[in-house]
Amino acid sequence: MGGRINIFVCGPTVYDDAHIGHVRTYIAFDVVARYLKARGYSVFYLQNITDIDDKIIDRAKKLEVDPAALARKFERRYLEDMKALGVENVNLYARATEHIPEIISQIERLMARGFAYETESGVYFDESKFEEFGKLSHKSMEDPDRHRIEPDPTKRNRGDFTLWKKRRNEEGISWQSPWGEGRPGWHIEDTAITETYFGPQYDIHGGAIDLIFPHHEAEIAQMEAVSGKAPMVSCWMHTGFLNVKGEKMSKSLGNFITIRELLKTWEPDVFRLAVLSAHYRTPIDFSEGVLDQSRRSLERIRKLVSAIDTRL
Ligand SMILES: [Zn+2]
Repeated sequence: MGGRINIFVCGPTVYDDAHIGHVRTYIAFDVVARYLKARGYSVFYLQNITDIDDKIIDRAKKLEVDPAALARKFERRYLEDMKALGVENVNLYARATEHIPEIISQIERLMARGFAYETESGVYFDESKFEEFGKLSHKSMEDPDRHRIEPDPTKRNRGDFTLWKKRRNEEGISWQSPWGEGRPGWHIEDTAITETYFGPQYDIHGGAIDLIFPHHEAEIAQMEAVSGKAPMVSCWMHTGFLNVKGEKMSKSLGNFITIRELLKTWEPDVFRLAVLSAHYRTPIDFSEGVLDQSRRSLERIRKLVSAIDTRL
């Protein structure tokens, strides 16, 4: 045993507090990292922080605060949540805004290789140029899900996704680039960050199951198109949803509980155990009952541990 394992897990977009659905993923990969370390591997666990995004800009506008300050605030709260939950195996949190030159370099290389093009609104990845697009999700070109991506009349194909968004007048945050002022698309930050620390190929990529399409397909397309090397990742791991009454917990459905609210009533290990009682890919039907059961299991484990301690 031994050797190095590089893990990347998609991190949070820091515009609000993390809800317990997100946190399930981070607890799962904390345990993956612990397990690999216990098996004698040296693990490098990298997570990105999406600190520039439409959601951040919109929320900041609503609250009339500076978007960068908003992002820092929720990043700090996210890290506090992780600490409270014993999620402590991430070696490096990489902010998108601190990797702008790497992002620009990757987009330039995609353009030079004919995979990306510029229009008046931004720079886009030309999906039709990457023949294997969809190989992770097995979605065909016709799948309606492929076209949820924002419509834009300047794009060549409907499914082409944004690499660089050109600045519109009213927006405050932007960086200089060969395509004028603007900011990066969401997918490109991950591959720019993983390429920086791991190179074009690495071992494990994790995230919640709803990131497979289009986010992880876009990552594969970007990185493999840039490097000409495949596969980008040897092992994909996707965590199942945390459902409430059969529905995925999400901000848009308004049925979420933040981890902060939960920890007011329940101790962190109760939630940790509840999450880890199911296989990481299996959906969890979350309820008070599940937490209560987990609390009782935790009590039994603790009794057993203290009984053993007394006998030693
Ligand atoms: Zn990601």
